[in-house]
Amino acid sequence: MTSILEATVLDTVVQPGDGALVQVPAGGRLRIVDQYGNQAVDTLLYDAGDLGNRYSAFDTVREQGGVYLTTGSRLLSTRLDELAVITDDTCGRHDTVGGACAQESNVIRYGDHTRHEHSCRETFLRYGAPAGIGQRHLAHNINFFMNVPVDATGGLRFDDGLSAPGKHVELTASRDVLVLVSNCPQLNNPCNGWNPTPVQLLGWWH
Ligand SMILES: [Zn+2]
Repeated sequence: MTSILEATVLDTVVQPGDGALVQVPAGGRLRIVDQYGNQAVDTLLYDAGDLGNRYSAFDTVREQGGVYLTTGSRLLSTRLDELAVITDDTCGRHDTVGGACAQESNVIRYGDHTRHEHSCRETFLRYGAPAGIGQRHLAHNINFFMNVPVDATGGLRFDDGLSAPGKHVELTASRDVLVLVSNCPQLNNPCNGWNPTPVQLLGWWH
């Protein structure tokens, strides 16, 4: 009997303020490692064959009957196709309602002095461009490792993270997908513990 040796085909570090676009074939696994803890990793997913069939936070939350993402969460598209499933999670909870930081929201929330600061929206556009991902393809995203608790009255807030150094989350692609990642540079709320840090991307597929 021969054993199957699985080679790592992706192993890269993404600095805060930087991003990545990764094509993961059906059955492939993508792991995001929060190397230093409490680092938000803003993420969008697309059907690799059809950018219009993209991740839908709303449909994902409604169909699973809960607002947090963790192991077992099926990441659904606008057409209710399963793009990927979270198959491993040592953090335990991830957000998909808090949205991504942008120059516009930074200025409104935190003041005009933040206008020059880099944001996830710019990273999404920069790394999405080679695949044809533009402004009209940006929708509500996942914030891996970000803590946005919803309280008993339905209120929500950006809170101190639950993650810790070395925690990881792993996706298994249900079809060929593009995963667009922005390692969040936000300095104005606790989503990155006031100190954005690198994350590692690991991938296994054939
Ligand atoms: Zn951000």
